[in-house]
Amino acid sequence: MKIPWIFHKDYDIPLPKNHRFSSSKFGDLYTLLIDSYLAKSAEVFIPNPAKDTQLTKVHTREYINKIKNGNLSTKEEKILGLPWSETLVKRSYLAVNGTYLASKLALVNGIACHLAGGTHHAHANHGSGFCVFNDLAYAAKNIISDGKCKKVLIIDCDVHQGDGTAEICKNDNNIYTCSIHASNNFPSIKVESDLDIGLDDMISDEDYLRIIQSALTTCSNKIKPDLVLYDAGVDVHKNDKLGRLNISSKCMLKRDLEVLKFFKSKNIP
Ligand SMILES: [Zn+2]
Repeated sequence: MKIPWIFHKDYDIPLPKNHRFSSSKFGDLYTLLIDSYLAKSAEVFIPNPAKDTQLTKVHTREYINKIKNGNLSTKEEKILGLPWSETLVKRSYLAVNGTYLASKLALVNGIACHLAGGTHHAHANHGSGFCVFNDLAYAAKNIISDGKCKKVLIIDCDVHQGDGTAEICKNDNNIYTCSIHASNNFPSIKVESDLDIGLDDMISDEDYLRIIQSALTTCSNKIKPDLVLYDAGVDVHKNDKLGRLNISSKCMLKRDLEVLKFFKSKNIP
């Protein structure tokens, strides 16, 4: 079986020089992977742009129109952290559907990997922290409303708390949200997920892995999901400029393998 990789050449975001967000990271990741031995066992899929009817399951009509028409106020653009552009709109419509496409392919294949996504700071009515639309909430809500799944578990291991996902999914009993993040990092005001685990800055690799294992057990006691969306955030790494943690590359690989093994052993995509 080949592992689906979901990618679109228009994912990169045009940004001014010295911007804190990398404007080429999605294309760079794709190039790195496609030139590696891993590409032999992968098949690349390209998403279509999201429809507004799908986006309204997650975002307010007013906010969607502001993004489409470039009507964000200076303050809203500052909170988003990215300058508005037509390219940003296009990539935002593509990227949410990339996560949704990955979700659908995972149901068939057991696993699928989106080479973007994790825009977990986007709230129902505003963007935040470099996130325009919330791909995790979008994929979970749409795959349930399309009748392909009944229950979805979202495990967010990005170093920042998944505040937008928590807000959008908070009254949805079919979606269980779990965020494992640095306590002292952005966002300063956290929104309560179903399970939140805040980490100390100087946590060791061993303690981090222990916490991940115990979170997996807690989640599987709380929900029997048909699908798991795993945000394998890499900004927990010790060299990440915006993270605060001190996690090694070896530990991150172990973390991802443990999460994948845990759900594979239960036959959950
Ligand atoms: Zn992050």
